[in-house]
This record gives sequence, structure tokens and C-alpha cells, in this order.
Amino acid sequence: MTVAPLALPAPDAAEDWVATRTREGLAEVRRLVEELRDRPPGDALATLRRWDEVSLALSNVAVAASLFANVHPDESVRTGAEQAEVELDRLVTELRQDRRLYDVFAGLDPAGLDPVAARLLTKTLDDFRRAGVDLDDETRARLAQINERLTEVGQEFSRTIRDDVRTVRVTPDRLAGLPQDWLDAHPADEDGLVTVTTDYPDALPVRMFAHDAGVRRDITVAFLDRGWPENEARLQELFALRHELANHVGYADWASYDAAVKMIGKGPAIPEFIDRITQAADEPMRRDLAVLLERYRRDVPAAAAIDTADSLYYEELVRRERHEVDAQEVRRYFDFTRVRQGLLEVTSRLFGVEYVPVSDAPVWHEDVTSYDVVRDGERIGRIHLDLHPRDGKFKHAAQFTLAKGLAGRQLAEGVLVCNFSRGLMEHDHVVTLFHEFGHLVHHVLAGGAEWTRFSGVATEWDFVEAPSQMLEEWAWDADVLRTFAVAESGEPIPADLVARMRAADDFGKGYQARTQMFYAAMSYWFHTDRPADLTAATRELQARYAPFPYIDGTHMFASFGHLGGYSSAYYTYMWSLVIAKDLFSAFDPDDLFSPDAAGRYRDRVLAPGGSQDAADLVADFLGRPYTFDAYAAWLAR
Ligand SMILES: [Zn+2]
Repeated sequence: MTVAPLALPAPDAAEDWVATRTREGLAEVRRLVEELRDRPPGDALATLRRWDEVSLALSNVAVAASLFANVHPDESVRTGAEQAEVELDRLVTELRQDRRLYDVFAGLDPAGLDPVAARLLTKTLDDFRRAGVDLDDETRARLAQINERLTEVGQEFSRTIRDDVRTVRVTPDRLAGLPQDWLDAHPADEDGLVTVTTDYPDALPVRMFAHDAGVRRDITVAFLDRGWPENEARLQELFALRHELANHVGYADWASYDAAVKMIGKGPAIPEFIDRITQAADEPMRRDLAVLLERYRRDVPAAAAIDTADSLYYEELVRRERHEVDAQEVRRYFDFTRVRQGLLEVTSRLFGVEYVPVSDAPVWHEDVTSYDVVRDGERIGRIHLDLHPRDGKFKHAAQFTLAKGLAGRQLAEGVLVCNFSRGLMEHDHVVTLFHEFGHLVHHVLAGGAEWTRFSGVATEWDFVEAPSQMLEEWAWDADVLRTFAVAESGEPIPADLVARMRAADDFGKGYQARTQMFYAAMSYWFHTDRPADLTAATRELQARYAPFPYIDGTHMFASFGHLGGYSSAYYTYMWSLVIAKDLFSAFDPDDLFSPDAAGRYRDRVLAPGGSQDAADLVADFLGRPYTFDAYAAWLAR
């Protein structure tokens, strides 16, 4: 049975639409929950079906609110959608602490449920217990207090990082080496000085291109000290509260609580993983550091080591001198419209779907292009591509859900929200586009689910990046690229240029992995050891894991924003990269479109969504459990 796409509002009707959808959705949730509590069906499957209606109603409110809060051009719509999100969060917290509701599920007999329904029951009970529903009133009240305070402290922590913009003022001659368009945008003031801020568009080019080592050092030190000292006490409070919460619900520490719902499973498996990657990256790190240091010593003969005040600059230099990749030359091949068409053709071939343009979908902005995703003549989803920047829009790149797909009940709809230029693109951005599209296609292909909870990108959080990281490989393949990376003259991108781009990109991957493991170690040990002196702990972990030494007097942990969202799980990006490399090893490098591998991948890894553990999906596809081998081989290459 086919289902219709969502009837989106015209832009000027969006405010009412979000408000109505939220009001009616939440009322429906309350009605369903009340019925479930007062007149439980008794039978496990029937109870789960009712609960799925609750989940679907919650999801429909949540996804529309989140999308419109981030993309709608009208500020009042965005504000209204943000309020809807707050209301929804409050209701979800209330439900998870609802003892009578929990008792309905706790009393069910799982015998006779199929494995996926049984999985749903287990996960539902787990959600309640992790929220402390079965504890005494006093502890539950304390947990509610902790959650509220965690939200506040987390917001203060991120706000401080965002708002604490530091500056360095220098004479224009000291900025030699920076691109002309950057210099034009940074004129000297009446004192004859140029102000450089610690915001990325300022600080990063200066660290990469300024010939003056003193300027690079000043901006690096300012950059590494954002958020300090204010954020140190906030972090200590965050770690303490998380620890207390984990203890109340039966875990030794926050990392164990957090890891229990992830692929990694157990907290102590995190440092084991970190040490394993550290070891695998050791030789590649030394190899690339030697190249970097050798180049550095041509300018600074007495140098014993290189630190992050100089590493980006010399890395750029090595890339340009050794690999001869000129970003300007590369851009000529990546015209936005062609790239978008190329992406659709590549993924269409790979996943056996067609994209049919939809011209009459009432979207929120004229930049948005919509397509129906059709497989074997049947519409299985709808996607919306919102790819250019505008005022008030989300600043990064991400996939948003507009509707979770449920077989026979609701069509999967997803949105890509990015900020690419309209003309020529950087290759980095092309890679980002493929990455984000990986999430979108996962969402759609897993949209034939039976249960809301398992629809779309619903696998463990430390797995969700793997399909996207793998799809990036298609944006690095010379044969794939030449199908759409074509200069205005009609000349496709030369294979030797792609080879040089790859070599340049590969340089430094060993020490980048070690930097990642330094961050992952901070994220884990700060939550488990909760050291009294975060600066001393940072210095110690940096010495153990990082490729570059600590710079005296800096406090980078104070602006390490991922301690907020990722908490103890910063390892996840690398974890999914290990799996992405293993998944990719099943494809034929000489024929990335081989229908056998692609079809099995679609059906066994993407389509099941969250209905099985990610480790089982991967093993089902590979025909064996995943290993580190492909990742280690890539690192050593
Ligand atoms: Zn991603």
C-alpha cells in the first residue's frame, strides 16, 4: 500500500501549521497515554502497538519542530518551533518518569512476541529505568533536578564558547601569506592595525597561511584559551552531576551509563579502543611527523619539536610542495548544479532507486528542490535538498527528518540542510555532500519499518556515522568523479589530479588519529576520574596520546564543546570510521557500482534501520564480525 507525502504548508501558513501540529500531536499523546494507563490492553503486542502510536505522534511533532526551527526563513516560525521543542521535551521527561505507565509495560509477558517486538519491549523498559522510574520519590525528584541543571549548565557551557571571541591586533604586513580575499575583508582600522578574531573563518586561515610565526602563535594561544576560566567550574559541575545520575540508576560511572545503549556496550571498552587506535596510528604518525619536522627545520634549524602553533602552517606547506594540489585548480571541476545531479545519479545507480523531481511540493524556501524516491515503480520516500546559505538558517551540514517512514502508514521524508556556494564548490564540500546524503538515503531506505522506534537512522549512536563515512569514498574515486566533475571546457577531472588530491588528503592521517584519541581520552577520563585539576590532566593526556606537545598556559578543555553533547563518547566518530573502512572493503575498488555488494549493503545494513544491533547488521553484510584490519591497512597506506 502506498502512502501520500506530508502536506507541507505554504511559507506564510507555516506558523499556524507548526502550532496546530504541535498542539494536536501532544494532545493525542496525552489521550493515548491516559488510555494506556487506565485501560491497558493486557496483551503485549497490542500494548506495544498503542505505544507505537504514542512514539509516532511524538516523533511527528519533534521532527517538524526541529526542522522548522532550523530552516524556516521567517523568524517567528523558527521561534514558535523552538517553543514546540521545549514543550515536547517536557512531556517526554514526564512520560519516562511515569510510574503507572511503566507498570503497564513491566507487567507484560513477552512470550509470543517476534524478535523485533521483543526488542522494542526491552528497549522501552530500558528507557524508563534509565530515567529512574522505578526509584523512590525522593531519588526521582533529585534526578529531575539533576536533569534540569544539566540542561542549564550545558547551555551555559556552549554559550560561553560561542560568545567568548578573543582578538589579536596586528600590523597588516604581518599577515603576509593569507589569501587576497581574506586580506580584502580585513582592512586596518584608524590605528593602522588589523583585528583577527578567534572565530574559525579568521583563526583557521591565519594559522594555516600566515608566514609570521609570532602571529600564528598569538592567535593559537588565544584560540586554545577560549572559555577559560569560566567554563572550568561548569565542566566540574557537569561531570559531577552526570556521575551522580549514573550512580542513582545503577551504573558505576557516567561512561558506563552512556555506553550501555551504544555499540561499544561497556564504559571500560572505551579506553581499550582508544589504546588500540593509538597503537595502530603510532607508526603512521611518526612517519608523517618526520616529514613535517624536516620541513619545519628548514626554517627553524634548532627545533626539537613542532607544536600546534606551527603544525597547520607546515602541514599546508607540505601538501602544496609535495603533492602539488592547487585548490583553485580543483574547484574548476565542481560546479554545484552538476555535482548535485552527479550525486543523484551515483546514488541512484548504487542503491537501485530513481529520483523523480517534484515541482509542486510547497516547501519553505525557493532554494529547496524536492524528489520522490522510487524503487521498482513504487514511491518509497521523498527528499528535500536545501543546500545554500541564507539568513537565520542552520550554519552547518546535517540531515533532518521530516517524517519517519512506516510501512503502509507514513512515507519517509528527509531533508538535507547544507551551506554550499551556488557556483563552484571546494572538493571538501563535495565530500560533505556525499556524507550527509548517506544519512538521508539511510533514512529513506529504512523507511519501510514496522515500528517508529526502529525507523530510519535508528541504530546505535556510535554506528550512525559509518554509512555516511563510507559513502564519502565515492567522492574520492576517479572513475566516479569523472562522471560529473567536469570543467566548463567539457574536460572531466584528470585521474592523476584525483590521485594527488588523495595523497594530499592522506598526509597526516596518523597524527590526526592520535589527536582524535587525545580528545577521546579527555572525554572518557574527565567523566570517569573527574580530575580536580583539568589543566594538569589535559597536559598528561596530551603527552600520552597527542602528536603535538602541550602549549604552556593554555586550557583547551574549556572550549572543547563536544564535552557537552558527546560527553564521554567522543570515541564514536573513530569507532564508526573503523567500521566504515571494513564495510567498504566488501566493495570492488575497480567497480564501486558492483550491484551485488551494493544491493546486499542496502538490504542488510541500511534497510533494517534499528531493528537489530548494528554489529549484527554489519556481520550479516560482511559474512563475519567486523574487524580493525581494513582501518589499520588504510592508516598504514
Ligand atoms: Zn554525519
